[in-house]
Amino acid sequence: MSSEDHTPSNLVSTFATDVFNADARQRYLSSQVFADLEETIHNGKPITSDMAAAIAHGMKMWAMDKGATHFTHWFQPLTGATAEKHDSFLTPDFKGGILAQFSGKELIQGEPDASSFPSGGLRATFEARGYTAWDPTSPAFVVNPDTDRAVLCIPCVFMGYHGEALDEKTPLLRSQAALTKQLERVARLFEVKGDGRPYATLGPEQEYFLIDSRFYIQRPDIVMCGRSLFGNRPARHQQMEDHYFGRIKPRILAFMADVDRRLWRLGVPAKTRHNEVSPAQFELAPVFEEQNLSVDHNMLIMHTLQDTAAEHGFACLLHEKPFAGVNGSGKHNNWSIVGNDGKNWFAPGQTPHDNAKFLFMLAGVIKAVDTYAPLIRASVATAGNDHRLGANEAPPAIMSVYLGEQLDAIIEQIDTGNSLRTMGNNATCNDDLIEIGVECLPKIPRDVSDRNRTSPFAFTGNKFEFRAVGSSQSCAGPNTILNLVMAAALDEMVTEMERRLADTPPQKDDTGHSREFHDALKAVLRDEIRQHKRVVFSGDGYSAEWQEEAARRGLPNLRTMPEALAALISPETVKLFSHYGVLSEREVYSRHEVYTHAYSTTVAMEGGCALDLARTFILPAALKFETMLAETVDAAKKMGRDAGPRMKAYNQVADLVERLYGAMDTLETSLQDRPNEIVANMAVLRAIIDKLEMLAPDHDWPFPCYGELFFSSTHIK
Ligand code: ADP
Ligand code: MG
Repeated sequence: MSSEDHTPSNLVSTFATDVFNADARQRYLSSQVFADLEETIHNGKPITSDMAAAIAHGMKMWAMDKGATHFTHWFQPLTGATAEKHDSFLTPDFKGGILAQFSGKELIQGEPDASSFPSGGLRATFEARGYTAWDPTSPAFVVNPDTDRAVLCIPCVFMGYHGEALDEKTPLLRSQAALTKQLERVARLFEVKGDGRPYATLGPEQEYFLIDSRFYIQRPDIVMCGRSLFGNRPARHQQMEDHYFGRIKPRILAFMADVDRRLWRLGVPAKTRHNEVSPAQFELAPVFEEQNLSVDHNMLIMHTLQDTAAEHGFACLLHEKPFAGVNGSGKHNNWSIVGNDGKNWFAPGQTPHDNAKFLFMLAGVIKAVDTYAPLIRASVATAGNDHRLGANEAPPAIMSVYLGEQLDAIIEQIDTGNSLRTMGNNATCNDDLIEIGVECLPKIPRDVSDRNRTSPFAFTGNKFEFRAVGSSQSCAGPNTILNLVMAAALDEMVTEMERRLADTPPQKDDTGHSREFHDALKAVLRDEIRQHKRVVFSGDGYSAEWQEEAARRGLPNLRTMPEALAALISPETVKLFSHYGVLSEREVYSRHEVYTHAYSTTVAMEGGCALDLARTFILPAALKFETMLAETVDAAKKMGRDAGPRMKAYNQVADLVERLYGAMDTLETSLQDRPNEIVANMAVLRAIIDKLEMLAPDHDWPFPCYGELFFSSTHIK
């Protein structure tokens, strides 16, 4: 599958060929083992050791048919990346030959030396063992099939000796269980028919930049930090609005086609591809899937983008803010819920009954986001995302919910209890029916998805789009939090309904519910909406007015990562995590430590990098320029010319050089300090350097400028 290979991809016949999916499992496992494993995958049936041995054997045969020589437990430690350690199937037969073996135990559990993974103090070095455990709900796959680099990858969770979560996936799976449990209660409450297991869905849109690798390697800041530390926005950037959805240039298209083809083979349903707002910025979106699988698939999307880019002579930047002055990259996290009836519960219903459940779910989201806004904000707190959130192009750090005009009106009506007839499209509603409530709600039109690009949490017709997630982040963390806060909100609401209905006679009207049910529902919806509607906001989230308005409403605005992370260990959050079995108190504290450390390490590393580059690349160039100007002044004087204008230019540069020395010193002494000092000092240094870049001769500047980086990937062959 090299980039040289331009054989057309057969979409249908090659999709998921490198995945040990139901089709492959059926072919490589006995019918009994196949059936048992399906039970495990769909209903959590435990795996016996005999079963594991049989599955391992079948999986190995399948992988070896794809050329795999090795297997790896593929997991997601708290580094935000994935981890792998390859073991070959090779086993000596002690007769001078070898066998290819893969045992049930090797499939189910691994024991990587975990001492070098971040654990936030959860693991003392004397108990450094960590365990990877197979997650059968995300199917195994082979990377680089039919090459000598083919490896069988087995998605896993990663935990310590006592079962402490050391990864991003364990809490995700636990939060899914917590959410499912509450959704099952909602199903019982509304008497939704169907015996499916309710679950969350995810469709993450992935933004990225592509830079020609010949320019990329000349930018040590981007190579080391994933983002540029210096540079001016060129005269032409995104203001022409010609890049977004623009014609995809051939070199980019060849890359995208290759990415799609690789992803399809891995069973990743890559669906859309287009140019984004900033020059050199693009997006890939898959079709949504069950959340756990989609989280893994997003990791594969990021890997595939980067690996394929390298083969096409590009560097793929996944950083949230690679370039100042133009849009950064996010990951729109489209999140929804499928109920036990197999239907999307965020899709407005066709019947009053469905609408009632829809409004209950909607109220749940409003309650969840308002109650747990700081935690939701914390779930997207990374050093990179700090540069993007609230930067006039990405949602602010204030968490709010966008519903659109029609739902706003409905929320308003629930709150005030005003006649719902005024909505106009339900002429048969009489006063009595209005009194008993929700079944008189107007039919909510299918297409309620007004667009508001400035909201961090927007309802888009049948799902919520959480737009604050960073482009380089794993989706596991934010989705863990969404599941958790929704579970907590629904829990309270269902409990309240049950309390109100405790002594209700089971009589029902023609909507399938008793009058008491309607009364209870109306009261619960009204109470929740009244209490939490301050989080609903339909205006411009980028505006300064919203910052003020949000403050008036008492909504938190946690601008930087350290502020946001504090929310992770507030007593309420700790209690929330442990109550729903998502993270124990120790696990929460350890995560806080890991993330805080990651933040300060990143900032200190970037600070050190900025200093190095200023000293060894930029200062010499600036001095050379200064000398040249000094010589020009001398020469002009010697020739009897007016040295004034030349002197002015010289003085400007000489001043900048002096300030450069000062800023370097200040930055250097602050490198041991708190991250915000470093960030502030880097900004001062950058401002000086960016000014020098604008004045200095282009051919003497040590780095390619933004203009070259932006347009190289699309305009240079
Ligand atoms: P846009 O938001 O740009 O209008 P779409 O509405 O087509 O685009 O969807 C964007 C993303 O949302 C896609 O990845 C899509 O698969 C995902 N998506 C659509 N429906 C759902 C759903 N029910 N649950 C989760 N994600 C969804
Ligand atoms: Mg979208």
